[in-house]
Parts: sequence; structure tokens; C-alpha cells
Amino acid sequence: MQASEKQTIVITGGSRGIGRAICKALADPDATLFFNYFNPGDPEGEKAAADDTEKIVADVGGTAKGFEVNVAVEQEVNDFIGHILTETGRIDILVNNAGITRDTLLVRMKEADWDAVIGVNLKGPFLFSRLVAKTMMKQRSGRIVNIASIVGVIGNPGQANYVASKAGIIGLTKTAARELAPRGVTVNAVAPGFIETDMTASLPEKVKEAMLSQIPMGRAGQPEDVADAVRFLVSDAAGYLTGQVIHVSGGMYM
Ligand code: NAP
Repeated sequence: MQASEKQTIVITGGSRGIGRAICKALADPDATLFFNYFNPGDPEGEKAAADDTEKIVADVGGTAKGFEVNVAVEQEVNDFIGHILTETGRIDILVNNAGITRDTLLVRMKEADWDAVIGVNLKGPFLFSRLVAKTMMKQRSGRIVNIASIVGVIGNPGQANYVASKAGIIGLTKTAARELAPRGVTVNAVAPGFIETDMTASLPEKVKEAMLSQIPMGRAGQPEDVADAVRFLVSDAAGYLTGQVIHVSGGMYM
């Protein structure tokens, strides 16, 4: 089919938190934005959250379309990307944002906790990047941004699975950046510190206080702080930047 004149943007996990803020930050009348979500435990809540993201993007003049797709299941990812390509014929920007936690100490961690987190946080970005990179290489242009985490660099007790997934996504970023640079595709990561979303809301107060005490700027970050870094990385201004990890952490890591 004929490629659309409009840009196509794909954002995983766009129904809430940082992903929703990224959807809003990248909203553009000249772009169609596709995002996904997946929360089998709360099908009505997740659909309502996705509808809200679509409205938020429409309110700032963009078009967003939400789909229930599990990033950890190859067939679902293939079908989602296939659907997007049938509709638009191109993909200009991919943001691998969807992520989960299953926190517990290493010695208590169940195999299922490990597999679930690695599946969503690391296999998901692999499945999306592998497919989308083919299209971007043919286009000879594209931007991929992976949402990592500060803990993927410094480690964190109680998060062996999560930290391994985030260290892994940094390795994936650097390798994809080297492979795709000759074809005009950049691949970078944003590593947030402590950001106020549903993911961190459930942390015990003591843990939150301990984290805040380590932030030189003295406050938690907002989803918009992360979204602004992503907006920069997909902009023309970041054209000569690839394989980098930008820490958005109020100075927690430097
Ligand atoms: P969040 O509020 O819990 O949102 C997670 C998003 O991922 C939701 O949209 C969720 O969809 C989606 N998702 C979860 N599992 C999925 C799956 N299997 N398939 C598709 N989508 C799925 O989390 P957040 O704080 O915004 O985190 C976003 C990213 O930032 C994650 O990669 C996280 O690791 C990273 N990060 C966050 C922080 C922080 O302090 N918050 C710090 C560092 C890094 P549903 O709505 O359907 O559940």
C-alpha cells in the first residue's frame, strides 16, 4: 500500500503513567499515534484508562488509537504491528515504555516473578524493535526510544528481575543503535529515577522517603519530566545522538 503522508508513532503501555504523558508529548496533528495496554486483572479499568489517553491526545489536536496487546506475546505484537502497517504503511517512532514490577528479595523470588518481568520489560522491547526496525531500515529513517531505569545501572535490593530487565534494555539499546545507525535509525534510552505513577504509588512510605532522600533536587519526578526527554530524542535536534542513556532522575544518578 501507499505510505501515509502522516507520521506513525507507536508507544507501548500508553494507557497510564509515563506512557500516557509520552502520548500527550508526542501528539501532533500530522501524526497518527498507536498505543497498547494490557491488564487482564482489570479489563474495564484498562479500557477506560486507554479511552482517557485517546481523549487527552485529541484535546491537544492529535489522533491516538489504543489497542489491547500483550507486549510479551509474539503473535499479538506481530498482529498489532501488521495492523498498523496495513493502515499507514510506515512507522517513524517507536517508544518501548510498557513495564511491570514483581518485587521481592532474590532468595524469595519465584520463577514466575522472574519470567513475568523479563517477558514484559525485555522480551517486549525485543519483539517490537525487531519488527519495527525492518520497516525503519527500509525507510532509511526512524527513532526508537527505550524506557530503562536508573536501577538498571546502579542496582536495587528487592528488584533482581526488574533491574536485570532494565540493564538488559540498555544493552539492547546500544546494540540496536550500532546495527541500525548506517540505515538512518537512532536508538536511545531514557532512564527515569523516582517518578510519581501507579508503579511507585504502592511502595511503602519508608521506601519512598529513602528514595526522596537520595534525590539532590529533593522531589520525585513527574511523568512529564520523562516525556520531555523522549520528545527531545525523537526531535530533529537529536539527529546525531544514538546509543545514549539519558537519566531523568533529579540528579539521583550522575
Ligand atoms: P505504570 O503507571 O504502571 O504503567 C505501565 C503501563 O504499561 C500501563 O499502560 C500498562 O497497561 C502497560 N503494560 C503493563 N504490562 C503490559 C503488557 N504486558 N503489555 C502491554 N502493556 C503493558 O508504570 P510507569 O511508572 O508509567 O512506568 C512506565 C515505564 O517507565 C516502565 O517501563 C517502567 O519500568 C519505567 N520506569 C518507571 C519509573 C517510575 O518511577 N515510575 C522509574 C523508572 C522506570 P495497563 O494500564 O493495561 O496495565
